[in-house]
Amino acid sequence: MAADHNAFITEATIEGDADAEGPLAGTTVAVKDNISTAGVRTTCGSEMLADYVPPYSATVVDRLTEAGATIVGKANMDEFGMGTTTETSAFGPTRNPADPERVPGGSSGGSAAAVAAGDADVALGSDTGGSVRCPAAFCGVVGIKPTYGLVSRYGLIAYANSLEQIGPIAGTVEEAAAALDAIAGPDPHDGTTRDLSEVEGADPDPSYAAAADGDVDGLTVGVPTELFDGADERVVETVEDAIADLEDRGAETTEISLPSVEHAVQAYYVIAMAEASSNLARFDGVRYGHRAESDGNWNESFAETRDEGFGAEVKRRILLGTYALSAGYHDKYYKKAQDARAWVRQDFEDAFADVDVIASPTMPVLPFELGESLDDPLRMYLADANTTPVNLANLPAISVPAGEADGLPVGLQLVGPKFDEETVIRAASAVE
Ligand code: GLN
Repeated sequence: MAADHNAFITEATIEGDADAEGPLAGTTVAVKDNISTAGVRTTCGSEMLADYVPPYSATVVDRLTEAGATIVGKANMDEFGMGTTTETSAFGPTRNPADPERVPGGSSGGSAAAVAAGDADVALGSDTGGSVRCPAAFCGVVGIKPTYGLVSRYGLIAYANSLEQIGPIAGTVEEAAAALDAIAGPDPHDGTTRDLSEVEGADPDPSYAAAADGDVDGLTVGVPTELFDGADERVVETVEDAIADLEDRGAETTEISLPSVEHAVQAYYVIAMAEASSNLARFDGVRYGHRAESDGNWNESFAETRDEGFGAEVKRRILLGTYALSAGYHDKYYKKAQDARAWVRQDFEDAFADVDVIASPTMPVLPFELGESLDDPLRMYLADANTTPVNLANLPAISVPAGEADGLPVGLQLVGPKFDEETVIRAASAVE
């Protein structure tokens, strides 16, 4: 196991359904530690839940084991998914298998590192603002962020409900797509999941693995200038080469503009922090998780519990989120962010009238060195400029290795229209 990389918080086996000759028989899976596993502790990378053992498994975990997969452990992550480097974990940072002096990306850094190091065939991450795609890009593997409503969030410990989806990470597009086949589909436990036969224009019976056929002949690829502006030159060059490969295989590229995206990362952080401040109110030391040994009254005990249980980044976000939602500031921040979100959604919708997929760097930067961005949260937030618009618009996207720059992996992001995972997967499989 990848003890060297600190990819796992807990190593534990949950056997697949041995009777089933399932499509994932023999596949090993690492599960991000904010996804509930019955009988196996689920920490969210936090002191707050260091001893929390869920009584039930997330729907995605049940679906993987029913398909024959074996869970091999719970993967390290930024605390409650809040981060881009996996350094905010209470269990220590994960190292990038491509270069152990660098971060694996985040927040699902343990998941991507486990796959990159060969400790699991597939991993599950969660993507609220890029947390599947960023670590996939930094570790040189494939990560899929599904359309909002394709995959059940039942059993996912919430960070920002309106933005997040669970998604697979794997060494190849086809393996990631096969895992998506297993976990996708409506779930009575999650009212936001959709039945594709009721979604206009969607393939009612998709096969994601079969879509990984590399056939991009005639596909139109939109290249938005805004998602290249300001990116590291080495990243831009590598991504442009990968887009040229798509052209060689018969795709057509066309320059497009998404003017709203320059506001996306700001809007994302207001919305994500607002939702987080509300979601994390449940960690009060009474119902589950850490409880401070307090002699004080209820308010004091609550404050001490949260002071001890949460790390600095989580506290920062609870404070900022509470501020953004408070009377007097709500219109100034939260409402404005929602307006920007609507604009981003509209921009993508307009773009998809003319193109099939949209291509850009997944991350505008190469993997940070360990410790480099810890004292500079703004720098860390801005690195999410290309991934967060996709969550605001609830669209499907994939990060696929585009190549290397200075020996470090670079990811190409491909975004598609709602519930058109198949096109995104098809295009990504042509890049490999
Ligand atoms: N880096 C982003 C954040 O910190 C994304 C995290 C995620 O997708 N969970 O919010």
